[in-house]
Amino acid sequence: MGEAAKHHHHEHSGEKLVDAARNSLVESGEQWTGMREAVFAELARHERPASAYDIADNLGKARGKRVAANSIYRILDLFVANNLAMRVESANAYLANTHPGCAHDCIFMVCDECGEATHVDDDAVSQRIRGVAAESNFTARRPIIEIRGLCSACR
Ligand SMILES: [Zn+2]
Ligand SMILES: [Zn+2]
Ligand SMILES: [Zn+2]
Repeated sequence: MGEAAKHHHHEHSGEKLVDAARNSLVESGEQWTGMREAVFAELARHERPASAYDIADNLGKARGKRVAANSIYRILDLFVANNLAMRVESANAYLANTHPGCAHDCIFMVCDECGEATHVDDDAVSQRIRGVAAESNFTARRPIIEIRGLCSACR
C-alpha cells in the first residue's frame, strides 16, 4: 500500500460497485441512463480489461439486438472522464474503476500471458511522475503507469 492508504479509500465490488458508480456519475451532474448502467455492469463483470467490441457483443447477445461499438465507446469515454472506468492503454481496453469518487493515477500490472490486469494505487509514485511533467512545463492530465509482466498464476 502506498499513499492511498492514508485517506479513507473505498474499493467496491458487485452491486455495491454499480451503486458507487451511479452515485459518483450523478454527483458529477451526468445522467445514469439504463444503457449506461448496462455498460457499467457489463464492464464490472469482466475480470480482464474489456474492449468496446467485447461489451457491444455481450450486450447485443443479452438484448437480442445489435449494439453499436461506437455508442459503447462514447459511454466508456464518459466513464473514464468521470473516474468510473480506467483505460488500460497497453491492452487497448477498459476496466471498471473499483474506487469511483476517489481519484488516483492507478498503476496497472498487466500479464503478458493471460491478460489479467491488477492495479495498485501509490500516490507517491504518481505525484513524482506528475512532478516530472511539471518540471518540464507540461500539464499532466492522465499519467499512464502500466507494468507488463507475468502474474503469479502464469509465472
Ligand atoms: Zn483513494
Ligand atoms: Zn486505483
Ligand atoms: Zn497471467
